[in-house]
Amino acid sequence: MKNYVGLIGLAVMGQNLALNIARKGYSISVYNRTPDRTKEFVEKRVKEEKIYPYYDLKSFVESLEKPRKIILMVKAGQPVDDMINELLPYLEPGDLIIDGGNSYFKDTSRRIRELKEKEILYLGMGVSGGEYGALHGPSLMPGGTKEAYKLVEEMLLKIAAKTEDGPCCTYVGDDSAGHFVKMVHNGIEYAIMQLIAEVYDVMRKVLNMTSEEIGDVFQTWNNGELNSFLMEISYKIMRRKDEETGKPLVEVILDKAEQKGTGKWTSQTALDLGIPTPTLNMAVEARIISHFKDLRVNLSKTLPVPKENLSLNREELIRDLEKALLFGVFISFSQGLWLIDEASKTFNYNIDLSEVLRIWKGGCIIRAKLLNFLREIIKENPQNANLLASEKAVNFLKDKIESAKRISNLGKLTGIPLLCLNSALDYYFALATENLPANLIQAQRDFFGAHTYERIDKEGIFHTEWEKLE
Ligand code: NAP
Repeated sequence: MKNYVGLIGLAVMGQNLALNIARKGYSISVYNRTPDRTKEFVEKRVKEEKIYPYYDLKSFVESLEKPRKIILMVKAGQPVDDMINELLPYLEPGDLIIDGGNSYFKDTSRRIRELKEKEILYLGMGVSGGEYGALHGPSLMPGGTKEAYKLVEEMLLKIAAKTEDGPCCTYVGDDSAGHFVKMVHNGIEYAIMQLIAEVYDVMRKVLNMTSEEIGDVFQTWNNGELNSFLMEISYKIMRRKDEETGKPLVEVILDKAEQKGTGKWTSQTALDLGIPTPTLNMAVEARIISHFKDLRVNLSKTLPVPKENLSLNREELIRDLEKALLFGVFISFSQGLWLIDEASKTFNYNIDLSEVLRIWKGGCIIRAKLLNFLREIIKENPQNANLLASEKAVNFLKDKIESAKRISNLGKLTGIPLLCLNSALDYYFALATENLPANLIQAQRDFFGAHTYERIDKEGIFHTEWEKLE
């Protein structure tokens, strides 16, 4: 008897995904570069499951049904290419490799191209939900050829998270569509995390609230419109005590945020495609700035930051913070979706945004109640990927904009940086502005570089001799 599927890479994600697959009734062969990790996995975590360990690649591949279906859950980057090259001598035309890691979408496009020449099928599949999701049901974002997807569709639908709108897996689109969508998912994730961190900062510094009190507010918000996985974990984080000191754990964690690259790739790609995503970009910047801890400690002693003493109504401020957060989260999603839509047109991915929102509803890190509303907007007008162009969005944002402004102003008055919230507001204002000062930019460009400009009163391209050249 051969096994249905194979999985390579038994770190956090691979182990849990393998268990999930086996528990859904599929026999699975597993392999890891370092054999000890495989042994440990089998000894500690495999019980009744139909999971079969292999310690050399040849017998791993030979243990699989044809066409073979092999999931890679290894570190993104060179390790994926290394594993593909090691596998190739044992594979046959029609076999399928599924890369479930956070691979850069351009690498996925290249791998699909290269493997097509060898008649090996390839799917680039975003997997979101961390280790819990991988075990109990992740959000799966597979992209590549439909033919490749069909080979594993049944299994993917079974292992994915479920919501009232079905399994959180769909064929996302051609080529690297799956990894592109996962990349932007992470870009949005960065922004929402930063927005939550910013409102936390206001609560602790302006309202002098304890972590426990902030946790209570977050929990209340999680029962309302802000209901989401990130809100839920944030209130749980606020309540966790450090075993050593007895203080809230969050208060003893160093304020230096790490990143693995997907947020940065989202911003870089948005710049390349010419789509504005300032709130997603600012989330990356905020992590970068946080890294300069020593410099910040020194500058905090010398740079003047005028701070005003304000007497504030706590309940009103908390209400404003909730609405400001909703405003920022909405804007973050709207920027990400616009970027996905543009990529879909540029790279011929054929992505259905409503489906993307549906599969983000469960299992993944950015799952949120708000996604239902975003889907309604997209369904109403699938041709217009800019959420702000819908009447529903106007009505939704109407009562939040004033709150967002008040919190932004409060940040200025108290010297609290609100990089994401401020950028969300400025993005909103910029898109709502008929006349931007870009006319002056064009004049400056024409002045120093003869770059020409267009006019508002007649067609054509114009150049002015701003100064006589001697
Ligand atoms: P990871 O730390 O990203 O990678 C470790 C795994 O990669 C180990 O199995 C390791 O094998 C293998 N590996 C590294 N270099 C290799 C090479 N040159 N050849 C063969 N194998 C190699 O593991 P992870 O956190 O489980 O993530 C797996 C993938 O899922 C990554 O792409 C990650 O970005 C993505 N992802 C992670 C999460 C998460 O929450 N952690 C969520 C979504 C997606 P050895 O044991 O031999 O070192």
